[in-house]
Amino acid sequence: MDVRVIGRIAALALAAPVGLAIAVAPASAAAVTTLYYSSSGAPDYLAQIDQGAANWNAAVTDVKLVKRNTSATIKFHEIHSGGSYTNTNGHGRGDIYLDTSQVAEGFDPTRIAAHELGHNLGLPDHYTGPCTELMSGHGPGTACKNAKPSAAEAAKVQSLWVNGFAVTRAESRNVA
Ligand SMILES: [Zn+2]
Repeated sequence: MDVRVIGRIAALALAAPVGLAIAVAPASAAAVTTLYYSSSGAPDYLAQIDQGAANWNAAVTDVKLVKRNTSATIKFHEIHSGGSYTNTNGHGRGDIYLDTSQVAEGFDPTRIAAHELGHNLGLPDHYTGPCTELMSGHGPGTACKNAKPSAAEAAKVQSLWVNGFAVTRAESRNVA
């Protein structure tokens, strides 16, 4: 073999670990858990639900919300009174009920959708929190249109999903 070729191969071999390390870095992080949500049961809020999911996807990397109307584990529905709520195990399974009367009162439907998704991702309510928090829900009033989780909320969800579906929770319960 030509010595120059050997030298070139050796150089590539030396260079490879650096290139590989860069390429492999994302895969060596925690695996992503994909959760499927269906929004066909809430036809008036399709765009808002997608935006709420997108806001979570932009904030966390351990868990990803993907729309799929068959075999989804998170299902949106519309109701017309009583307040929006979700029945969820707090770990990727649940039914979310969006109340059209709350939207008529002035509450932002994207914020409601993102808030209820937050419950399905494991977060509790924190009604006394500021508008910058998603889980403050209706607490800050109708003027609050924020539909993105705070950094602390995102960090909490990230930690809850670091082991994917491994964490088991108590059975489903209702939360507003
Ligand atoms: Zn809530």
